[in-house]
Amino acid sequence: MSSVNMSTPKIWVLGDGQLGAMMRHAGMPLALDVRPVDIMSPTDEKLPLAADDIITAEREQWPESSLSRQLSEHPNFINGPVFGRLADRFTQKSLLDELAVATAPWALVDTDITEATLHSRFGERVLLKRRTGGYDGKGQHWLKQTENTAIPADWRHEAIAEQAINFDEEVSLVGCRSADGQCHFYPLALNLHQDGILIASISPLNRLEHLQSQAQEMLAKIMTALEYVGVMAMECFRVGDHLLVNELAPRVHNSGHWTQAGCHISQFELHLRALAHLPIPELKPALPIAMVNLIGVERDDHWLSLPGAELYWYNKEVRPGRKVGHLNLDASDKQQILSALSSLQGWMPAQYQAPLSWMADELK
Ligand code: ATP
Ligand code: MG
Repeated sequence: MSSVNMSTPKIWVLGDGQLGAMMRHAGMPLALDVRPVDIMSPTDEKLPLAADDIITAEREQWPESSLSRQLSEHPNFINGPVFGRLADRFTQKSLLDELAVATAPWALVDTDITEATLHSRFGERVLLKRRTGGYDGKGQHWLKQTENTAIPADWRHEAIAEQAINFDEEVSLVGCRSADGQCHFYPLALNLHQDGILIASISPLNRLEHLQSQAQEMLAKIMTALEYVGVMAMECFRVGDHLLVNELAPRVHNSGHWTQAGCHISQFELHLRALAHLPIPELKPALPIAMVNLIGVERDDHWLSLPGAELYWYNKEVRPGRKVGHLNLDASDKQQILSALSSLQGWMPAQYQAPLSWMADELK
């Protein structure tokens, strides 16, 4: 029996950060050959792409390079046209409006629009967001009427303005559409952001169940309209019983990392199955998980002593505000998770105290 089929299509990933690495990891049990590509690597060599290879991306935007061009111009670059459309907040918000999917009220910051117009339309606080390139809260600028904040000159045409949403909390839905049009969803995740960066997620939570069908309808509508294949994430604001879409990510997403420990098929495997046209049964999460992002902190092997903890350490240089790993904590046993969170409070720096208390309160 031959053990290796040399002609098995490869799945190339545009980008080689942690998301690509976790895709490669998820492909291993299925013998899917996943190849993240460092698109900025200075090389004259061509990637050995075969005609039936599949190309995906771990990011919605990328700089031009000979490698990124080679990948994005391949005929099997899945969801090719979707990336540009969602990476630009102007076209993303326009799409949401076209589909009548609720989103924070917004306007394009064009040549003529004034601060006064924005405040009269959206209120005292208006959030400007760069159309492209923003992540982890970067590329945002608050206009405050009381402080007479001005629109930065070089943000015209480069930004949208959004009404400040006084949300109750933030949730996200990670879903997947297969090529035959079937949609699959995980339960909603409850997310906490600190300084614009996701710091903690919990899923599933019984108290969010009544929002699940509303969220699924929204994301199904979006993925279907885009004829999307693979995993997409939808970040939402919860205002009472209503969801407003904050933003969409055409890729696996940080708020879906809990599925690595919580579900028999992680979001990474789910994405690969959709790309490779493999069967996708009903997603049945087995465990509630509390995910803690490790942001700008040195690795501490104490974390590994916590019962029910799984560490993903990205092996990146530690810098303030940089995501360098995450911990998935089994939250099925209340005593165990509360004790784990309390131990973490003892080991983690000051900025973790409030998020860890928030998690404990949610899980009590
Ligand atoms: P990501 O890293 O998820 O891509 P991002 O920096 O691209 O994030 P957003 O998700 O749009 O940008 O915003 C980051 C956070 O800022 C949100 O999760 C939310 O906490 C806050 N925020 C964004 N838009 C609004 C709004 N209209 N009103 C109030 N808060 C907002
Ligand atoms: Mg976001």
